[in-house]
Amino acid sequence: MSVAAFIHLIGSMGVFPSRAFIPAWVTAMLLRFGHDIPAIKNSGLLDLCTQSPTWFTHDATLVVLGILALLELISTKNAEVRAFMNDLDQFIKPAMATITALGVLSSADAAIAHEITQQGFGDLPLALMVGAGVWFLTTIRGAIVSVLLDADETDELGLQKVIAWIEDLWSAFGILLLVLYPLVMLGIAALIAGGFWAMRKYLAHREEQSKKPCASCGEATYLSALACPKCAAKPAHTHAVGFFGNTLDYPAKDLAAHPYELAEKKRCPNCAAHLEERDPTQSCPACGKRILSDPAFAQEYQRRIGERLPTVLGISFALSLVPIVGLIPGLIYYRIRLVAPYRRYVSRSMGCLLRVGVRLLILALILLQVVPLLGALMLPLMAMLEFSLYKSVFESALKHAPGEAAKAAGAV
Ligand SMILES: [Zn+2]
Ligand SMILES: [Zn+2]
Repeated sequence: MSVAAFIHLIGSMGVFPSRAFIPAWVTAMLLRFGHDIPAIKNSGLLDLCTQSPTWFTHDATLVVLGILALLELISTKNAEVRAFMNDLDQFIKPAMATITALGVLSSADAAIAHEITQQGFGDLPLALMVGAGVWFLTTIRGAIVSVLLDADETDELGLQKVIAWIEDLWSAFGILLLVLYPLVMLGIAALIAGGFWAMRKYLAHREEQSKKPCASCGEATYLSALACPKCAAKPAHTHAVGFFGNTLDYPAKDLAAHPYELAEKKRCPNCAAHLEERDPTQSCPACGKRILSDPAFAQEYQRRIGERLPTVLGISFALSLVPIVGLIPGLIYYRIRLVAPYRRYVSRSMGCLLRVGVRLLILALILLQVVPLLGALMLPLMAMLEFSLYKSVFESALKHAPGEAAKAAGAV
């Protein structure tokens, strides 16, 4: 069989674990239009492939894949959706890799296809082998990503976002490279793996470097802190925290709201240290304060989140009116505003049970969302449901005697 086709199929296994729809779209576009691009025209794979459109390079396929690739590009820039997609990835990526492999094989000239079949490989078994390889690699990637999610759930370092962009580029240009220089691609894969590791070290270092010494005791203090973790002295300026819980360059506008904004990003409302446990009764690892379990603070925290409900439900309704396309932005939006402030403090085992239930509901939502009018109610309903679920789990965790949960976690 053709070595070029085989290398392409093997190489694509290195790209699909990163993204599902972007490499599928790029592959289809190259097969369709590559013949018109001088640099690519004579490369191994395109030499084998027919110029006439097949089901995989049909206009309709290109448009649908293009839209899905765009949605994928947008959705992976959000920490909440990334965490959610990390569970679904396991199925979507191998499926898309298999479909793309079938697409490539169906575009190969009849003579080549015949040759491949004679070697004892039908199209489908070969494509399924690629799918199985991608499934295996996606599992490994998922394990690495979940370590990253645990270490930095709210992406304070912005690291996950950087990696998301790199993976986007990789998933698009990886396919292009695979067509042009199959072997160079393998070397690049090794370099990128090393680069990730170095970058993570660098960003963690930079976050610590951003601390400034306290004016009275000299203790290294985050710029977004309201007090020094050691001597409790108040800094002259408190910086605002950003969307990802990162410290911003300008002062916080509303100091009364600032502690709640910190708590929402899973940082200590007092000294801005990163809280490590998924438990509202935990004490801060830096200053030792246990602020969220203070009834007055917890009540105000919940009031501030509950206040958003009418606005979020209204916007979700509006987004829900747009079939399919409105779904992902709507989901991201309500989860950030209503669910994430609670979810960050819900224990992993509890969160796991909730996630399974929520995932089934989302499946129903996707199916029903296509129905006009009824579909428009689905996002607000989902938002209400997820909000009340996580809120009640959060409240029951607060009822535990302070310290109990921390002791239990310490014993493990
Ligand atoms: Zn101090
Ligand atoms: Zn603290």
